[in-house]
Amino acid sequence: MSKGIGSLLPVLPSYWAFRNIGGRGKLPLNFTLSLLYACNSRCKTCNVYERKVRIFSVEEYDRTLATVGRVPYWFTLSGGEPFIRKDIVEIVKVVYERCRPKIINIPHNGTFPDTTAGKVEAMAMACPESEIIINVSLDELGHKHDEIRQTKDNFELATRTFNSLKALDVPNLTVGIHTVISKFNVDNFPAIYRGLTAMGPDSYITEIAEERDELQTLGTGITPTLDQYGRAIDFLLSQVRNKKFEGVARITQSFRLEYYKLAKQAVGLRQQTTSCYAGFASCQISPDGEVWPCCIRGESAGSLRENGYDFPAIWHGERMEAIRRSIRNRECACPLANASYTNIMLSPVALAKAGLNYAKLSVTAMLERGADGEGAEGIGGGDPRGGSGAARS
Ligand code: SF4
Repeated sequence: MSKGIGSLLPVLPSYWAFRNIGGRGKLPLNFTLSLLYACNSRCKTCNVYERKVRIFSVEEYDRTLATVGRVPYWFTLSGGEPFIRKDIVEIVKVVYERCRPKIINIPHNGTFPDTTAGKVEAMAMACPESEIIINVSLDELGHKHDEIRQTKDNFELATRTFNSLKALDVPNLTVGIHTVISKFNVDNFPAIYRGLTAMGPDSYITEIAEERDELQTLGTGITPTLDQYGRAIDFLLSQVRNKKFEGVARITQSFRLEYYKLAKQAVGLRQQTTSCYAGFASCQISPDGEVWPCCIRGESAGSLRENGYDFPAIWHGERMEAIRRSIRNRECACPLANASYTNIMLSPVALAKAGLNYAKLSVTAMLERGADGEGAEGIGGGDPRGGSGAARS
């Protein structure tokens, strides 16, 4: 988001008009490609690995993205576990060659400490005009993380992976930490936050564990109560508000502050707290090439394989238009981070509040600078979004 945001601002009104007035509309600026459902972790918050499909090949992504062109601003490559795919570097290259997004964001469970850094370095070198964001998923500290992930030594492996990524000397790489807040960790959130941010991530982001059809978690009771989640978010907000952020990090935190407030409201109210632009400005492509507005609805507007890999044909088709009518009528609601950041940018009210957050953070930084001189930048550089977008990697 922060990278080249100036190029994004002129196109935002056309998405606003598309949703609120109608017409043919542009192609999405925010794509999530779910690369596979397979995963080597067995997280208590996700059963997506149970789904079996014939996944898209590199060539199928190439044919699809050739019809999209250079409209998208950011891509999220999710799963399952994206780094299980041996061709992940090739897929990133195709995304870059065809679309030149400013941001390519990939969640990772961190269980391949010997190979991930090399692949990420190759991605970053191949995509010099994009910011590569790798968010390592850490939900707890030490063996408690292994218990949530139901994977032996997961915390230790993820810590090694995180450190190897941080050691890379690559200018267009952001290494973050991502925490899924669920009923398994919500009451320990302050300690988790302190422990994980002490590791020195470029950004720290959270998302609530939700029961989703895509993740096969309906009826599992993984979502914390509103009270529990509210306490965790209030703590997070207090930490972010009181930190000193400079430059780009201050912009990104301004958006995150707004997202966390809206996510808390969305969980409580179960209604769209800002107009949702999934299906208008953002979309997801499932591992077998179905075009969805988002991973929460997981509702197909058409199969790319059955439509000659012609994304615009599906995007402008009748099924997508029917889905859009439902979203426009606010027949769904959720706190999905991936869609929410697009929504904040396209909501004049939310955008104004993000601007106000920026002003307040500027005052905090100014006061701190006065108190102790120039200091190091706080946590939070890079993309304000960075949510997993789909499965819990
Ligand atoms: S509100 Fe949530 S479920 Fe509905 S379209 Fe937006 S992202 Fe999808």
